[in-house]
Amino acid sequence: MYIGIDIGGTTIKFVLTDKKGNVLSFKKIPTEKNAQEIEDGICRVIEELKAFNEIAAKKVKGIGIGAAGAIDKAKGIILTSANIQAWKKYPLVKLIEGRTGIRTFLENDATAALIGELWLGNGKNFSNWIMLTLGTGIGGGVVINGKVYTGRSGSAMEVGHTTIDYKGRKCSCGNRGCFERYASATAVIETAKSRLKKYPESSVNKRIKNENLTSKLLYDEALKGDPFSNEIFAEISEYLGIGISNLISIFNPEAVILAGGLSRAHKIIFPIVKKVVQERVQAGLKENIKYLLIKDEEKTPALGAAKTAIECCA
Ligand SMILES: [Zn+2]
Repeated sequence: MYIGIDIGGTTIKFVLTDKKGNVLSFKKIPTEKNAQEIEDGICRVIEELKAFNEIAAKKVKGIGIGAAGAIDKAKGIILTSANIQAWKKYPLVKLIEGRTGIRTFLENDATAALIGELWLGNGKNFSNWIMLTLGTGIGGGVVINGKVYTGRSGSAMEVGHTTIDYKGRKCSCGNRGCFERYASATAVIETAKSRLKKYPESSVNKRIKNENLTSKLLYDEALKGDPFSNEIFAEISEYLGIGISNLISIFNPEAVILAGGLSRAHKIIFPIVKKVVQERVQAGLKENIKYLLIKDEEKTPALGAAKTAIECCA
């Protein structure tokens, strides 16, 4: 048995799985702000999973963790995490191994999702493909000739922090004009909030009297025909299309796979992204690209993290 953990900006997900990716148990907890609380929460769930049944408790051979941010995979350290500010040169692997006594391995969260999708998802049908995770930020991953590309220290494809507007919005990473400031779920909400006053007739105004303004709420209203919500999604999707066009020009992929909460808005996003790619990418690169969603949004990233542990323990 192996445990895979996916630490995102808002939720931490756990799977208890065998070597083949059969999930025996799945759990999730919210991501706390404080580093100690995050660590305590993770160890608590690991204990729950170990106790899932007595046989499993004896057989947990390794833990794989996919974590948001720049990591040093070999040392098991989170260097910086834009979404979890408390983590600076944070020795996560050592801390978890010390408390659980189980060998632990670290992977970038977007790379873990990529590994999971390559192992058990839609990615296994292609040799060259890219994946973008659209959530609080934008994570990315690339498979080149059937192999996950991770870069020197495991932090390749930090596409969310590539510049899309050189004089643009400030980002928590220190840069300005980052891709994720324009095309993530956070960007949807911020863009909508900054402009809603100019649209008193929008149905969104009515709903936010009792509800939080979320990307899901805006997507629902966009599908119902609210012009304001559609304008926001058109803009976000155009930025997304530009970012994806850049990646298509770099990697020449067969498929683009989207994951993350905002990817649920694919009915609006995909047609606009496809149009932008046709407008911006050279002939020879832009034809016959498959645009797909991750196969299992909930479990794939944690399964990918578990796969890292499975391979490291083999
Ligand atoms: Zn940034």
